[in-house]
Amino acid sequence: MSEDQKICNILVVDDETYNLEAVERALRFQNGYTFQVYKTTSPLQALQMVREEQIHIIISDQRMKEMSGVEMLNQVSRLSPNTVRIILTAYTDRNDLLDAINVGKVYRYLTKPWNAEDLRMVVKDAVDYYALIHRNQTLTEELTRTIEELQESNKELKKLDDLKNRFMVVASHELRTPATIITSSLELLNNSAHQLDPQMKRVLHTALKGAYRLNEVLETLFEIVEANSQKLILNPVVVNLVDLFNLLLGRMAEQLNIRQLNIKMVFEENLMVLGDRHKLYQVFENLISNAIKYTPDGGHISIRGERLNGCIRITVQDTGAGIPSEELQRIFETFYQLENLNYHHSSRYDYLGGGSGLGLSLCKSIIKAHQGKIWAESEGIQKGSTFYVELPAYHADSAGAK
Ligand code: ADP
Repeated sequence: MSEDQKICNILVVDDETYNLEAVERALRFQNGYTFQVYKTTSPLQALQMVREEQIHIIISDQRMKEMSGVEMLNQVSRLSPNTVRIILTAYTDRNDLLDAINVGKVYRYLTKPWNAEDLRMVVKDAVDYYALIHRNQTLTEELTRTIEELQESNKELKKLDDLKNRFMVVASHELRTPATIITSSLELLNNSAHQLDPQMKRVLHTALKGAYRLNEVLETLFEIVEANSQKLILNPVVVNLVDLFNLLLGRMAEQLNIRQLNIKMVFEENLMVLGDRHKLYQVFENLISNAIKYTPDGGHISIRGERLNGCIRITVQDTGAGIPSEELQRIFETFYQLENLNYHHSSRYDYLGGGSGLGLSLCKSIIKAHQGKIWAESEGIQKGSTFYVELPAYHADSAGAK
């Protein structure tokens, strides 16, 4: 039934012409729809009409010479399952009724002599029923289409993800050797830099800086590939986190100064974990360099270390750019960055310096390999961010203590 035009096609079948006219007369009422009434005395012709026209409702007599109403409605149910079927019969015989329901799959059953008011009520209900079926069908079709589209997109995403993983494997393996050759050649040249004029020296210096950065990115990529293929190898030793952070902050003091950032460190004593010192250093270096990078000059960074239910929790909190809540999980995905890549430049400590989008992904793999947890919280954009790392605490009597 067209919702725009609200035209409802009703086919009436009865081998008595005056009965057809009586039904037509009874249907001259307003229901928000225009009823287009088709009439025939022949069930066979009725079936032909169902094939050719879109019939929304069919009203049929039961006793007809060519074929019974129930038999015809049974065929209609196969030809046009959505057509709502109503039968009129002189008998209220129980078998007739069961036949009508089981064979004719009728929606309603009206006994003769019917009165116009009853017929109108039944037709009114049938119209609503048809509209409901139609709406459900449209929704089901839409849902099926959406599911198919989602499945397609999912396949595409999987393909892209596979490509990304393959690219990471190829890049990390194939580019490492040439990058090392370039770096060592530039270092060799740099050893004789005193022979070069100042302009060439500057060029060489820039090239060397770029080569170091390239090596760093490739190294991170290589480690992520290793971690993804469960090949991340840890060299566990007892690590004193207070010492590790003192070393780290000592090395970052210059950058903190340049950016005029205030740093506060509050650590409980003896925070020990059993872990890979170099890799844990990488994790916390990344968190602090991010805090520096995403906090404007003059901001605050606070680092806390505490013991909490058998774990050690490290918290790195800044007063910087903040992270929208819907991105808090995604920032740990490989290559994921919040910034618009069109404005991308890469720097480790400049405000909003940008990077490779690899750091947090590697942090997550390393912390996972240590049976720990890492997550981020933020009140939103410009409201600062807090990164948490939890690692199993080391006790002198722990198994495997070194
Ligand atoms: P990048 O090299 O781009 O910094 P990361 O994997 O370390 O890569 O971080 C992923 C993204 O998470 C960053 O691009 C940045 O958008 C966001 N992010 C990380 N740390 C912070 C922070 N402290 N404050 C705000 N945003 C952050």
